[in-house]
Amino acid sequence: MTDAWLRCTARAIHERRLWLTELDAAIGDGDHGINLDRGFSAVLGDLETGAIPTGDVAELMTSAGRRLLGLVGGASGALYGRALMSAGTQLAERAGDEEVGRRALVEIALAGAIDGITALGRAAPGDKTMLDALSPALGALRAAPPDTPERDAMLAMAEAAEAGATATIPLVARKGRASYLGERSAGHLDPGAASSAILIRCLADAVTGTARQSP
Ligand code: ADP
Ligand code: MG
Repeated sequence: MTDAWLRCTARAIHERRLWLTELDAAIGDGDHGINLDRGFSAVLGDLETGAIPTGDVAELMTSAGRRLLGLVGGASGALYGRALMSAGTQLAERAGDEEVGRRALVEIALAGAIDGITALGRAAPGDKTMLDALSPALGALRAAPPDTPERDAMLAMAEAAEAGATATIPLVARKGRASYLGERSAGHLDPGAASSAILIRCLADAVTGTARQSP
């Protein structure tokens, strides 16, 4: 499941790298899509060559995070790298437990990622960052009643991330490079929230088994 998520993400980020970079050019320095593409392409390469193990979900997440940290650069390299490593740490404690279902594992990973990003970046929802997509995604997952079909819970999560990203448009950035613009950052979609919504959509697709497997 995790390697399906990483493959889907690498492909989707590659497809939308120019769009993400344009978003970042408007309120940042125009490197977001290109940097993320470099990092996730390397992760994809590691999967292809077997350089990172796919058997253990926690280890895979941690290795991918380490790769992003080393290659992506900028704020998002550190933040996404830390997010995946933190998700890996949380998963390591629970993934072997057969009582923990897939939906619970997604929740553990997402909560771990958000904790990692928050510990490093000290942003809160509403600051016009990736957290504005990730936090609503976790909120939607937690809000779905336990008997919700897995597919519906995953769709609700992905839709909440996308709605959260769109909702960054009117916000004034309070963290990161975009915050240097002050009021002028309003009226633009946050690039990190946009990429996070892509990651979450791939997560939903990977869990429901519709992720595209080919590189
Ligand atoms: P840089 O600004 O260093 O060029 P990127 O362009 O790769 O980094 O990423 C910018 C994105 O990082 C922003 O759109 C925002 O979503 C996210 N970001 C920046 N600072 C923070 C922070 N402190 N906490 C969470 N996300 C942040
Ligand atoms: Mg940038």
